[in-house]
Amino acid sequence: MTELAPYAVTEANSRGRRIAEPAPLARGEFQRDRDRIVHCTAFRRLEYKTQVFVNHEGDLFRTRLTHSIEVAQITRSIARALHLNEDLAEAVALSHDLGHTPFGHAGQEALNACMKDFGGFEHNLQSLRIVDLLEESYAEFDGLNLLHETREGILKHCSPKHAARLGEVGRRFLEGRQPSLEAQLANLADEIAYNNHDVDDGLRSGLISLDQLDDVPVFARNRQLVATKYPGLSGRRLIHETIRRMINLMAVDLIEQTRANVAAAGVASLDDVHAAPRLVAYSVGLQPELRVLKTFLRDNLYHHYQVLRMTDKARRIIQDLFAAFMNDPRLLPPQYQQMARSDKPRAIADYIAGMTDRYAMKEHRRLYAVGEIY
Ligand code: MG
Repeated sequence: MTELAPYAVTEANSRGRRIAEPAPLARGEFQRDRDRIVHCTAFRRLEYKTQVFVNHEGDLFRTRLTHSIEVAQITRSIARALHLNEDLAEAVALSHDLGHTPFGHAGQEALNACMKDFGGFEHNLQSLRIVDLLEESYAEFDGLNLLHETREGILKHCSPKHAARLGEVGRRFLEGRQPSLEAQLANLADEIAYNNHDVDDGLRSGLISLDQLDDVPVFARNRQLVATKYPGLSGRRLIHETIRRMINLMAVDLIEQTRANVAAAGVASLDDVHAAPRLVAYSVGLQPELRVLKTFLRDNLYHHYQVLRMTDKARRIIQDLFAAFMNDPRLLPPQYQQMARSDKPRAIADYIAGMTDRYAMKEHRRLYAVGEIY
């Protein structure tokens, strides 16, 4: 690894783990966090969770797992270019979606509505809950006992009410301080990944077309560059050559603007990063183009009637599951019955949030379809 910037997170300035552990023998502390995330159960579940398309709709669409791997790749590249802690940035990227429900945002909205009177449901908080509490892998602690900076990066957003009960990791939301540059970066790399792969998956599915994308300047501009260099190129190669240019453009813009922001703010230490405004950012030139792209994806892909039909079904599945378990918690598997004794709604939310798309559909059939056996 190249030498780190003076404002990067390091083992020396880390605030450590909640439960002290002996130092790892042949790897760094942040590598150990990344490795624990890759080996945890919630990480494997990402393979069968919806990003935009439900898992069974096609083998080539992104799932939460392949999305997370793409986010980690973009995060690592940019972290290295900025001389930040690559292992921390990668750990945050790989764990950022662990708390997502089945069926993507539709699932989260449905579960949040079910939990309205019981503290709500939010996927960032759930990701933290998984790594702090729900993973059952280690003899000496619940969860993964990750470093403070990894947990801080996982908790992207948080209301003041939740922040107050989260202790140290929630404090920055009450004090208006920023997380590390590594965490800020993983957050924007998430956006670079989905803005681009949703265009790719949208085209592959046929729900959006190349003609429609003529109205999206950042796409049209890069498609033109490809057409000029390779006249006659079409199909998958044209799409990929265009999208790789968009990813590169966004990453390079982020690197240059962030460098400029760090210099302008006179940031020289990790404390300076926490006290400064958000430093990882796109240039003012690129920001409006990205807004057009996001709006395009919302109007034409996320709100496409075929996607909405799927999300509507997903909402009903989540509502039905929640209602059945609330009505009779004896229908829960034994370990969740145990948890339900102290907090029934939260135990049910943990169970449902952990489900993959296909498991949720199967569980729904088991509970509601006449003729299904348990
Ligand atoms: Mg994500």
